[in-house]
Amino acid sequence: MSFDEGHTRRGARHDPRGVHQTIRAARAVVASYVRVLQEELDDDGEAFFQVEMLFADLDPAGSVPDRDLADAAIIYARSCADGHDHSKNIAWATYARDANERLRGPLHPRTVTAIAVLAEVYETRAITAACRRSQAGLYGQAAEVYRSLIDVYEQRCMPVAVDQARVRLAVCGHASGGCGEAIRTTGQCWQNWCRIPQRWPADGCEIAGRYTAMLRLCHRSDEADAVDVEARRFLGGDFRPGSSLFDLAAGDVSRRRHEPVCARNLRLDQL
Ligand SMILES: [Zn+2]
Repeated sequence: MSFDEGHTRRGARHDPRGVHQTIRAARAVVASYVRVLQEELDDDGEAFFQVEMLFADLDPAGSVPDRDLADAAIIYARSCADGHDHSKNIAWATYARDANERLRGPLHPRTVTAIAVLAEVYETRAITAACRRSQAGLYGQAAEVYRSLIDVYEQRCMPVAVDQARVRLAVCGHASGGCGEAIRTTGQCWQNWCRIPQRWPADGCEIAGRYTAMLRLCHRSDEADAVDVEARRFLGGDFRPGSSLFDLAAGDVSRRRHEPVCARNLRLDQL
């Protein structure tokens, strides 16, 4: 079923008059909000409300690829608006990725955004998963999507974005008990960032915050302290260790319960 067919059928049941006009108006609103969101306006409440109405009777698995619908699906999946039912985020983010890959191509900026959103919604679902087994599965799916995101960034020659995605991948690995590899990868990304001539402190802060948090959760405090010292040399002002932004990055790792999966705590038969 196409985007318009779904709403035409629904409209025919509930409101036979003016349904096409409603669809056009709603699509126009969504399109304009997409533009606003691209300019990084944070308030997505109204955009989400419009998209939610458009999606009311649509099944992401049964919807044919459509550019407007793919744009709306990204708004839906990444929205933090009040009243958002997050249970369909993965399905709509998957739709957005697949539709964009097909209609716009695998390296188009919207496709890249859709891949990043899909990885994030898998990761968010993993954090809140009810049991360890489903959590591991969701982290695995997030990791797979992050790998494809890294591949796309490499093809687009975006080394900083590659390392940012590698850190996100490492956080998923760390949360699944892959402590050693995750810490090694994040350490490499931190060293890479330190060597960039024109580096953005915000990027370094995001890496170093997560790096130190991983080390502390794995009880490697001496190494974490050494990274803190190094980070103070490179990061000043709002980005230094102890700042709210640095704590925010560290909190992305430390909010996940690590003790049960930490490699240092696993028995031999669990490794
Ligand atoms: Zn650990």
